[in-house]
Amino acid sequence: MANVTLEHITKRYEDVTAVDDMNLDIEDGEFVTFVGPSGCGKSTTMETIAGLTLPTEGTIEIGGRDVTDLPPKDRGISMVFQNIALFPHMDVYDNISFGLRLREYDQEEIDRRVEEAADIVQLEGMMDRMPEEMSGGQRQRVAIARAIVRNPDVFLMDEPLANLDAKLRVHMRTELQRLHKELDTTIIYVTHDQAEAMTMSDRIAVIDSGQLQQIDPPLVCYNEPTNLFVAGFIGSPSMNFVEGEVTADGFDAEHVTVDFDPDAYDVSVGDEVTLGIRPEDVYLADGVESVEDPSAVVDAWTDVLEPMGNEVFVYLKLAQDAELRIDERDSDQLLMSVDPDVEVEEDGEIDVVLDRSRVHLFETGSGDAIVHGLD
Ligand code: ADP
Repeated sequence: MANVTLEHITKRYEDVTAVDDMNLDIEDGEFVTFVGPSGCGKSTTMETIAGLTLPTEGTIEIGGRDVTDLPPKDRGISMVFQNIALFPHMDVYDNISFGLRLREYDQEEIDRRVEEAADIVQLEGMMDRMPEEMSGGQRQRVAIARAIVRNPDVFLMDEPLANLDAKLRVHMRTELQRLHKELDTTIIYVTHDQAEAMTMSDRIAVIDSGQLQQIDPPLVCYNEPTNLFVAGFIGSPSMNFVEGEVTADGFDAEHVTVDFDPDAYDVSVGDEVTLGIRPEDVYLADGVESVEDPSAVVDAWTDVLEPMGNEVFVYLKLAQDAELRIDERDSDQLLMSVDPDVEVEEDGEIDVVLDRSRVHLFETGSGDAIVHGLD
């Protein structure tokens, strides 16, 4: 077990800054996930911790020891990657024990560690199987067992579930959580999948363009995103954004107004602000008793309905002639989610309200959050 500290880590390639002044304090035994869009610098950050890449600037400590210039094998880490590189001509036992045999551990110790690791990842009775006789999930478990037997202080996992099918991925998520509980080891995990990050981590580090945006427990990132990027990235489907400005009465945009007293917040009349509201915090105005403090009614037109089984996503246009652009939510549209038993017609007029206590405001220019939830 060990804590991991990154101080001012920067990694520059010729014309790209892959990691930009990253500062992180990961506690002993913590499960921290790096999440962000493809190319944001997650893997490069991980590679600097692993020692596969030397940072251009900055220092890395593992367990209080400066490891910045140490080779991977001397850092007390084990790695699991997306591509499961098992030796195809070796059975499970030989694959798991390969590193220990290379280091000439005595046979009894090897057997003990392999048995223990196989037990943790539930591979008992499969020691003679060859990789080709196993499913993707089983092979990934062999790779994890191989990492476990090294008794690392820190596990580094880079998209280990990316090549598995959707159902298996969900199953492996719970296995990894169990593994973390059982081993009580620090785990640093890389994924582009915010759902994976939300479900497994003690804390999520949200990264964009090489820069750390926020590091917090999943629900804090969800409920109190530090800026527009985090607000849009965490949560699926993502938060609605409406650009407008602050007036003496609160928020004002072409189709949406939400009352508040500007003096009560860190805003001034005339400020350009972006309102954020999650789909589950938009309600039909009819029978809205469940919302204690609704906004003024927003006139809308229903466009596309997406029944998901447990809920229905309703795409709303705020101007009747607006063109719906599902991939790039703009100020002319809102996505709401309703219970499946609520009757909503396609192509109809509809009145909706926002739950004021769930409204977020951001500075439009900087993207920084101003307030989460209006009084
Ligand atoms: P992620 O893991 O978030 O998808 P990466 O850390 O792999 O992102 O990459 C971050 C950025 O650094 C990208 O723009 C990528 O093209 C660039 N990059 C990564 N590795 C190299 C390299 N060896 N040489 C040049 N550019 C690189």
